[in-house]
Amino acid sequence: MVELSALRNIGIVAHIDAGKTTVSERLLYFSGVEARFGEVHEGSTVLDWMPEERRRGITITAAATCLPWRDHLLNLIDTPGHVDFTVEVERCLRVLDGAVLVLSAIGGVQAQSEAVWRQARRFGVPTITLVNQCDRPGADYLVAVADLEARLEVEALPVHYPLGEGPDLRGVVDLLDLTAWVYDAQGRESRIELPPEVADEAGVLHAELVERLAEMDEAVLDDLAADRRPDRATLVAAVRRATLAGELQPVLCGAALRNIGMQRLLDAVVEFLPGPDDREPPRAEFLSDGSPHLVPPDPLADVCALVFKVQSLDGGPPLLFVRVYAGIIERGARLWIPRLATHLPVEALYRLHADSTHEVYAAGPGEIVALPDTVGATTGDTLCGTAPGLVLESQTFSEPVLTAIVEPEREIDRAVLADSLARLGREDPTLRVLVDAETGQYQVSGMGELHLEVVENRLREQFGIKARFGVPSVAYREAVLTSARGRAEVEREAGARRLKGLLEIELAPDPTSGRLTIDWAPGVELAAHLRESVEA
Ligand code: GDP
Repeated sequence: MVELSALRNIGIVAHIDAGKTTVSERLLYFSGVEARFGEVHEGSTVLDWMPEERRRGITITAAATCLPWRDHLLNLIDTPGHVDFTVEVERCLRVLDGAVLVLSAIGGVQAQSEAVWRQARRFGVPTITLVNQCDRPGADYLVAVADLEARLEVEALPVHYPLGEGPDLRGVVDLLDLTAWVYDAQGRESRIELPPEVADEAGVLHAELVERLAEMDEAVLDDLAADRRPDRATLVAAVRRATLAGELQPVLCGAALRNIGMQRLLDAVVEFLPGPDDREPPRAEFLSDGSPHLVPPDPLADVCALVFKVQSLDGGPPLLFVRVYAGIIERGARLWIPRLATHLPVEALYRLHADSTHEVYAAGPGEIVALPDTVGATTGDTLCGTAPGLVLESQTFSEPVLTAIVEPEREIDRAVLADSLARLGREDPTLRVLVDAETGQYQVSGMGELHLEVVENRLREQFGIKARFGVPSVAYREAVLTSARGRAEVEREAGARRLKGLLEIELAPDPTSGRLTIDWAPGVELAAHLRESVEA
């Protein structure tokens, strides 16, 4: 079992093209290199793995992939980036302890990164930011940092500075101790003294960093008062405390494609992001009497775990990905599923790695493991040690916002269409299927255009039905009154962020009343500076 303080359950959130896939692959690669290095040179793996059994059919696209890093175990949890899949994102955010927001040094904060980031904040998930693609011509790290502060209204704290600009990028400066890391083509890193060409800028940023941390951390302040230069460990502890408290957002830089800064990112995950013991315990309810209960990460308590993803395999039963909150799940045990009022035998427990699967015999609080499902469990189910057990707080789902009329292309498919839509609706709590009493037509409501497109594709590919989707209508509309200045700003913002399926704002200013009509998509909030400019 893994110590709570050595666990990091993290997700990577990003807009498309920021480099989420490249960063994830590099993290898996470099942690693997490290693990193999440990094996060969020290005679042991970084972590004490149980005997392993390989299984085919599972890849790094898994819902959660494990990577060992410097005596820690990181679980990289896949978070879908698109807000149409708000529920998918929320399922994942629930089991995350921390997140890495990946931005591009060229594009900065985009609407999509902003939406997912705001969700992470709603779930209280502390975040660090990587400004990726610092090797691209025209990349400007400090502009990206300023953009982050302006768009996300956070206190961004640069803890890195790029060594070299654009295509000349060759490493990163650690602003905590003013050393630099340089990389060869394979990404092997070496630490060097601060090169003179960045000494001035890095010196100024370091001084600012120390000053800002002294305002919120006594140990740093004490050092300054005693005329001592705070050492790296003191600064790391200060950044960590402020990050966990949501007061600061540490910002790193790098270029995943060129293997620059990836080991630094892994270190930052371990140094600045919380372990399960740093988070508030989740809320649950005893089924026996409905009384509320917090679930602290106690290994001696009854098992309490949450299924956050079901993954089908080619052949064999699907895998349930679960996060354990309390107790220890052991191979051979029987877990109670309150929703199904049935027992699930734990036939095997797996940790998934980039290129292999390890079987483990037990998993304790904070851990993420996969187990075969033989009873029909689903996302959101609580797994308990004993009946009647407790259930983790259920999720509330937002109302669907786009509705389209769906008709089969061939009349003969009507019954199959009804059945298929009903099946999809059972799987996905944000999809609503209604039959119009007068016309007999099917009305399908979802979270956005992309969501409806996915339904259309699945009907065709999975159920063999060609269906016609009518023009979707928006289900949520709000009229706001704004000042002339506010209106100009809302219009500009809406124009800039009008992205397919992400944010549909129809602005129809009424010249007499000054009212604007805004059609909202889910998961989208107006930025605070816009909210302020909207008077009523
Ligand atoms: P995702 O959509 O966020 O998963 O982004 P990808 O990882 O697929 O990257 C999008 C594109 O940016 C791909 O063509 C990558 O090769 C490229 N890319 C990713 N990271 C970097 C980087 O650090 N530097 C440069 N120059 N290109 C990058």
